[in-house]
Amino acid sequence: MIVAIDGPAGAGKSTVARAVADAMGVGYVDTGAMYRALTLLAMRTGVDVSDGPALAELAREHPVTLEHGRAGLRVFIAGDDVTMAIREADVTANVSEVAAHPDVRAEMVARQRDIMGAGDWVSDGRDIGSVVCPDAEVKVFLTASVDERARRRHAELVARGEQVDLRAIRDDVERRDHADSSRAASPLVVADGAEIVDTTGMGIDEVVARIAGMAQEARG
Ligand code: C5P
Repeated sequence: MIVAIDGPAGAGKSTVARAVADAMGVGYVDTGAMYRALTLLAMRTGVDVSDGPALAELAREHPVTLEHGRAGLRVFIAGDDVTMAIREADVTANVSEVAAHPDVRAEMVARQRDIMGAGDWVSDGRDIGSVVCPDAEVKVFLTASVDERARRRHAELVARGEQVDLRAIRDDVERRDHADSSRAASPLVVADGAEIVDTTGMGIDEVVARIAGMAQEARG
């Protein structure tokens, strides 16, 4: 069974997806982490983030791998553990441009389908229910108001000890919403058959219970 969770930046997808995967006892595929890892590698190796074919080549040469350990999901590229580095602001600022290239998406989607080809998985991203796994048994479009999403991201960064301005975060959330929704290749859309879950004012536990319940129902 596949549980596909899509939605805009800051809707809480990764926290929710990880918790749903744990509740179901299945693996979690964080596709945003895969685009982030490629973005980081491009920045480190000097590949231009506007050069789609070169980025796709880089992705082919150095496939991202996700490993589930006791410390949670770890992300590796070119032999390096980049779990923390891919969350930094300069990666976040460039990832939407990298993810907009059709060549890059083709490479990533193929890899994601490979990973999820057998067994049960929970995955989150922008195009899981629409493109990567259109036959997913459970499809959720997770969203929340822009203000709520900006507040959550701000709280998360402050908890990590980063000094950030709430206004700047709100601008970044809006900019990524626009970039992800308006791109030509696999824009963020509500997939056919997806249930919209607006988490504004909802606690994480409540959201996780709702999606785990949908998965249980689909399992029969
Ligand atoms: O989910 P996260 O914020 O880590 O994703 C980072 C970026 O990667 C998104 O803003 C989006 O541009 C891109 N992305 C995508 N398709 C996915 C997952 C992420 O285009 N399936």
